[in-house]
Amino acid sequence: MSGPFKWPEGKKLAVSLTFDDGLPSQLKFAAPLLEKFNIRATFYVNPRGEDYKSFLKPWKDMADRGHEIGNHTLTHPCSCNFQVYRREGLQNPRCLENMSLEDIKADILEAHRRIREVIPEGSRTFAYPCYQTYVGRGKTKKSYVPIVAETFLAARGWGEPVCANSPLLCDLHELWSWPAHRMSYEEMIGLAVKSSYEERWAIYTFHNVNGGYLSVSDYDLTGFLKFLKDHEDEIWVAPVCEVAEYILEERAKLGL
Ligand SMILES: [Zn+2]
Repeated sequence: MSGPFKWPEGKKLAVSLTFDDGLPSQLKFAAPLLEKFNIRATFYVNPRGEDYKSFLKPWKDMADRGHEIGNHTLTHPCSCNFQVYRREGLQNPRCLENMSLEDIKADILEAHRRIREVIPEGSRTFAYPCYQTYVGRGKTKKSYVPIVAETFLAARGWGEPVCANSPLLCDLHELWSWPAHRMSYEEMIGLAVKSSYEERWAIYTFHNVNGGYLSVSDYDLTGFLKFLKDHEDEIWVAPVCEVAEYILEERAKLGL
C-alpha cells in the first residue's frame, strides 16, 4: 500500500508502456495494436543524423494521436564494454566511459532541440540508453542523472525485477522499469497484478515487435493490452509524462 497516496478514480495501479529507439516495427506492429485497444504509450527516440526531420515525421503523427514522444539522446551512447577490443581503437569511441558530463549534456540537449522543433509537446521525459546513467569510469565516474533532472519532468532507467515504482518514494529521474523483451503476456500480467497489491507504478520497456533485437511478439503484446483494457476500471494506463505530473501534484498536496 502507498499510504496516503491515491491513484485517480480509485484505480489500484498505474502502468506505462515505453518503446525505445524509434524502431520501424513499433510503427508497423505496436501502433495499430495500441490504437485498437485505445491505449496511449511513450516512445523514446534518437533524432540522429541530418535527416532527422524525416525520421521524426511519423513520430509527430503518433504524438498527434495522443502518444508521448520522449528523448533517448541524440547518439544513444552506452558503455564502451558493449564493443569488441581492437588494437586500432574502438569502433565507436563515443561511449560512456570516454565521455564527460558536458559531452552527454550536449548530446541530450541537441536531441531535445530537434524533437521540440518538430514535436513541440515532445521531449518532456527521458530514457537512459541501455539503462545506464553515468559517464567516466572508476574514480572519475559520475552520474548524469542531475543533468537529466535539470531538463526533464521524469526519466526512465532499469528496475529491480519485481518491484515497481512507489509513487511517494521513487526518484522521478531514475524510474524503474522492466525490460519486457521476450516476455510472455502472462509474465507481463503477473508483474501488473503484483504491482496492484502495492498500488505502485509499473513501467515496461519494449524495443522491437515481431523480430529484430530485444523483440516481443505481437501475440504477447496483444495479450497484455487486452488484459489492461479489460481491467481499465482498476488500472490507469498512461504515458510516463502524465503519470509523473499526477505524482508531482499529489506529492505537493502532501507537502512532499
Ligand atoms: Zn535504446
